[in-house]
Amino acid sequence: MKKIAILGSTGSIGTQTLEVVRRNKDIEVLGLSAGSNILLLEKQIREFKPKIAAVWEEEKARELRVRAADTDVRIVSGMEGLISVSRIADVEILVTAIVGMIGIRPTIEAIQAGKDIALANKETLVTAGHIIMPLAREKNISIFPVDSEHSAIFQSLQGNEKKTLKKILLTASGGPFRGKKQEELLDIRVEDALKHPNWSMGQKITIDSSTMVNKGLEVMEAKWLFDVDIDEIQVVIQPQSIIHSMVEYADGAVMAQLGTPDMKLPIQYALYYPERKYLPGERLDFWRIKRLDFEEPDMDTFYALSLAYKAGRAGGTLPTVFNAANELAVRKFLNREIKYLEITEIIEDCMRAHKNRKNPTLEEILDAEAAVYERIESRR
Ligand code: NAD
Ligand code: MG
Repeated sequence: MKKIAILGSTGSIGTQTLEVVRRNKDIEVLGLSAGSNILLLEKQIREFKPKIAAVWEEEKARELRVRAADTDVRIVSGMEGLISVSRIADVEILVTAIVGMIGIRPTIEAIQAGKDIALANKETLVTAGHIIMPLAREKNISIFPVDSEHSAIFQSLQGNEKKTLKKILLTASGGPFRGKKQEELLDIRVEDALKHPNWSMGQKITIDSSTMVNKGLEVMEAKWLFDVDIDEIQVVIQPQSIIHSMVEYADGAVMAQLGTPDMKLPIQYALYYPERKYLPGERLDFWRIKRLDFEEPDMDTFYALSLAYKAGRAGGTLPTVFNAANELAVRKFLNREIKYLEITEIIEDCMRAHKNRKNPTLEEILDAEAAVYERIESRR
């Protein structure tokens, strides 16, 4: 039996990972973790019987200890708790399905402990890719992409020589506001931005998809995962979300992975690589689809994408600033404290004000995050 642990087991990727585990019956889950949803976490503990479960808030952890007193699980909390889930002995793969750069330390700890990573938590690579990728090589562990685009790229690279890769074609649905102009986005409400045309995901990434910040983060994620220059990555709008991404080779050949939008495919591929297992679900029927569309992204309206290219090219602490500003701005938008267009305005403002630092340590990354938070909190 393969042994895994999951950071963020109660979220969209976390619960779908458990669906894959439930159906295949050949994976053992030794660790689970959640932010605050202890009711769902308790159900997961009873079903999957992990050794350790982490809850972010200590108060909730205490409550769960009482509720789950009749089980054998050890319940831990805070950053120390996340790290203990990352380092559980015998775990082979850690699924990082937590949201935000809070995942950096637990991911680094897991790699140091020799675990492979099934990586959904893109914010970690965006901000600390220069630390994580060399460490992964040093520890000889694999990072399997779970993000659908990066899984598609990974799948399209199979059987070909990496040195003949010329270009990554990162596809994007364009989100719910594709085709709109700035002035039409002035009064966007939380409910509007949470309506993604093709995917059902956590709230933060759904907002990120609507602003194209998600695609910007994915450009930087791809740079680290596939060791390419930012400018070798081209974003292509593919509104149906059927082509999950493509790669172009030296001879001009383009390879792609297609499928109905279902995150269980990349999750399962990451858990069983290189094996392809049966996955129930709808198949593509090209007689019915008839056509696929392509567009160039509108980087004037969705200028967060061009800010991401800028941050990715500069490297250093600038990607952290891009990401941290977005994390806080999205939280504020979801709390209805700021307007929709302010999300990207805040990112741009923080990037402008930042003095970039090359090759930052983990402490310097976290300092840059704190400085961004301070700046945003003191606006107005
Ligand atoms: P989600 O909000 O649905 O779930 C997040 C999980 O993290 C939850 O289990 C939550 O309890 C946990 N969490 C949040 N804050 C925490 C904290 N402080 N301490 C401990 N746990 C905490 O998010 P999601 O949509 O599943 O996304 C997870 C990650 O995967 C993100 O980085 C996202 O960009 C990436 N991703 C998601 C999808 C998708 O389809 N949902 C696709 C590609 C990539
Ligand atoms: Mg994606």
